[in-house]
Amino acid sequence: MDEILNLDLNDMAQTEFDCSCGKHHNFSIHDVAIGSGAINKLPEIAAPFKEGQILMVYDNNTYEAAGKQAHKLMVDAGFNVKELLFDRGDDILIPDESVVGRILQELSGPTPEDTRLIVGVGSGSINDSCKYVSFHCHLPYIIVGTAPSMDGYVSDGAPLMSAGRKISYPAHLAYGVIGDTNIMKDAPQELIAAGFGDVVGKITALADWDLAVKVKGDYRCDTCVTLVQRALDKCFSKSNLLPQRDEEAIKYLIEALTLTGVAMALIRISRPASGAEHMLSHYWEMDYVDRGLNPIHHGTQVGVATPVIARFFEELADILPEGTGALCPRHEEIEKLLRDGGAPVSPKEIGISRELFHNSLLKGYTVRPRYSVMEFAKEHGRLEEIADKITAELYD
Ligand SMILES: [Zn+2]
Ligand SMILES: [Zn+2]
Repeated sequence: MDEILNLDLNDMAQTEFDCSCGKHHNFSIHDVAIGSGAINKLPEIAAPFKEGQILMVYDNNTYEAAGKQAHKLMVDAGFNVKELLFDRGDDILIPDESVVGRILQELSGPTPEDTRLIVGVGSGSINDSCKYVSFHCHLPYIIVGTAPSMDGYVSDGAPLMSAGRKISYPAHLAYGVIGDTNIMKDAPQELIAAGFGDVVGKITALADWDLAVKVKGDYRCDTCVTLVQRALDKCFSKSNLLPQRDEEAIKYLIEALTLTGVAMALIRISRPASGAEHMLSHYWEMDYVDRGLNPIHHGTQVGVATPVIARFFEELADILPEGTGALCPRHEEIEKLLRDGGAPVSPKEIGISRELFHNSLLKGYTVRPRYSVMEFAKEHGRLEEIADKITAELYD
């Protein structure tokens, strides 16, 4: 029972076990390789698909970071490789209709049946686009991560832009996930900071989950909580070295992002990864997209939203169920964690306006039907008062 707790992350692929929560869980990803030089395992992981053609997808930045190396490894190992490179110059690649469509076009050549595997090299945009297309074409995909920027490497959803709106589409888990710490440590600092912000967000996600269990009787899996909690502790023990690109600190960050994904994949809900802090982030992001602006990195938003949600737990301490408040450290402590890890600390600092911030506190809980501390505040008639107080503290 709970065997997964005794396994190293790289050994978790294809695990199944009876869990103390009463369910049977399985983690269906075929291979996970995290560590220095992990990219060299790509040909071995891709070996079952050697008979056919392999489509490799990157953009100009991720090609330089790892795509060139990944391509050479595959060609040297005798694979029949077709490449698709999105050259966006200095612009970032947005995972929208044009990107998804281009990948599809590459697959539907004169002999589409020959393509057996998609290998994406990149982070959020490439991963989500390849995940979506491979799902709909019933093909496996392997992701070679280039930045520890988000927790979507192990996730079966694909957030994409559609007609100017961000929509989270169902997709599937990767066949293989490769996270080479030696490559990822050289990712742009803002992407490392974003990934760290996403990890910090798990603090309030877990507290919110506990609240939902105690107030609404939601399902809970202690094995998943332990997996995520351990990964957070490990990541936070070294996160002050992230600004120096310390390889071990980067490794623990990637592990935390990946293990959160494993926890989500085991129970097929995103509770271990996402609570009220994610709702604020989504609220801000939708506002940016509505105004035609490029949103701030997901994890950066989640990071600054976390001490805000911690303030909710503080303000409601007198009526929270027993033990829930103790799961969430004080907001000052979370702010220090963010600052020491090189991530932005407050919504104001990343350009969220006072008005947008205040609205998000009042309406953030409507973003998705998921019980959180914001809805708890609403139910107890305390939401407006808390929103006013936090906004004044952060903005006046
Ligand atoms: Zn997230
Ligand atoms: Zn369980």
